[in-house]
Amino acid sequence: MKLTDNFSLWEFTNSTRAQILQIKNEPDASDIENLRRLCLNVMQPLSNYMHTPIRITSGFRNYELNAAVGGAPSSQHRYGQACDFTCSDMKRAFEFLRYHTPFDQLIWEYGTDEQPEWIHVSYSNRNRRQVLRKYKGESKYRPF
Ligand SMILES: [Zn+2]
Repeated sequence: MKLTDNFSLWEFTNSTRAQILQIKNEPDASDIENLRRLCLNVMQPLSNYMHTPIRITSGFRNYELNAAVGGAPSSQHRYGQACDFTCSDMKRAFEFLRYHTPFDQLIWEYGTDEQPEWIHVSYSNRNRRQVLRKYKGESKYRPF
């Protein structure tokens, strides 16, 4: 199922960890609608701007999968409101999202000042536009 021109549902539900643990990571209709809104408002505009492949490393996670990967119980991944991704120019992607999309949370996850390991971005019905950074060995996020 296509969510937007450049994104399919499969990219947001596929999980190696789920396969290994035999978890059926199936979103319901409301999760799918949230994923579609995330794509329409955030990920598709990013793809249009970047013109390079964007690899979704984690999208929707049902309760079981979220627990298995150590996600926060209230994680927006559980409702299809968040995804993690990598691409060829992460800094450029982060700047685009920061200044041109109506996100809820945008997080520079680990890595260096030049490149995060991955980017987490969420979209919900109360978009707070929080820009955060996560450092190794720290449980709390810092304002970016
Ligand atoms: Zn995430």
